[in-house]
Amino acid sequence: MPLKPVSVMWESTIACGLACKHCKASARAERDPRELSTEESYAFIDQIVAFGKPYPVLRITGGNALRREDIFDIIRYAKDSGLKVTIAPSTTPLLNRKNIERLKRAGCDVVAVSIDGATPEQHDSFRGMPGTFDRLVKATEIMRELNLPFRLLTTVTRHNVRELPEIMFLARRLGAIGWYLYMLIPTGRATEELALSPAEYEDVFHFVYDAMRLPLIVVNAIAGSEPYRRVAVMRRLVEEGMLEESALMQGELYSLLRRKLTKLAEEAGLEEAEVAETSYSPKDSSVFGKGIFVAHRGEIYPSSFMPVTLGNVREDVLKVVYTTSDVLKALHDATKLKGRCGVCEFNDICRGSRSRAYAVTGDYLAEDPYCAYIPGRVELPDVNKEAILNELRVTNFSRRVG
Ligand code: SF4
Repeated sequence: MPLKPVSVMWESTIACGLACKHCKASARAERDPRELSTEESYAFIDQIVAFGKPYPVLRITGGNALRREDIFDIIRYAKDSGLKVTIAPSTTPLLNRKNIERLKRAGCDVVAVSIDGATPEQHDSFRGMPGTFDRLVKATEIMRELNLPFRLLTTVTRHNVRELPEIMFLARRLGAIGWYLYMLIPTGRATEELALSPAEYEDVFHFVYDAMRLPLIVVNAIAGSEPYRRVAVMRRLVEEGMLEESALMQGELYSLLRRKLTKLAEEAGLEEAEVAETSYSPKDSSVFGKGIFVAHRGEIYPSSFMPVTLGNVREDVLKVVYTTSDVLKALHDATKLKGRCGVCEFNDICRGSRSRAYAVTGDYLAEDPYCAYIPGRVELPDVNKEAILNELRVTNFSRRVG
């Protein structure tokens, strides 16, 4: 059990003007009067600081955080307290030059903006509002002009999965410092119909492995991507001749994504690196529950996708909750896992998406129902899997981000 989280994600408000098909917060038009007040937000930040240095990163989400007029003061307070702060505002008219300048002045380190399609039609239909794509492009131009780093986030769904290569190249063209992929977790408005099949997720993970080889942009597969770690290790073992290629479960979707990626890379004159420098770090906050989530009314959850209440920052001390919670202890313990994840030879590095297990089965220790792997399928050589992942980690961010 880690002594502190890598990051604390805060749902600053539930208010949002968009109606995204996959919204985990089931955001609504108006703010909830029971949201943390400004003073309570400062006290909550003090609780993050109490974890000690190096401080967990404060990741501000929503709803739309820009619906809070005090959000700039709160960011300033967090920065003055020594925290690194990221914010993921919605792409509404509030993401305008004035507010982007205020984010920059408040000291915000990175802005994260969602992109769910490579074209205005695709993106806007997903986001539930016309004009969102154009607004996103405009916002990225302003952020580039102001030298405010931004990432683009894509939730992978049935609607956009075939466009992933185009979205990746678009992210680079727009000047993003990273492209982060979320695999859909069926919570909030995100229904299981939007999700891919386990075999299709497997194909996406193979695509991500290839995408990370291009000296293009930092690619990171986060929430719902836990089995990616198994795929990365298997790919590396195949490359080193320690595993038969037939062990890899690659289907039609992967062939399509691979073809598109190769074509786009050729057009751009890019060559693949010998080794996929995955940015999927063992320290990633989405793995093994190394992050923690604070909801808009102060409830503490293991993650934004797992609404299991551990306490409330209004009454409880975040650090005490994090270090003593039986739920978190169970989530960090591979021996507690059930089903396939419980007997899997990769569960030391993977453990499946606990949030997805919870969303689908109601049991956060159940097997990840969207993993395609059957334990015992491969004869695994005696290797240190964590060391392989470490070797694959990004060693060369600067080459990618330029
Ligand atoms: S069975 Fe579970 S632990 Fe094994 S690779 Fe799949 S999700 Fe990971």
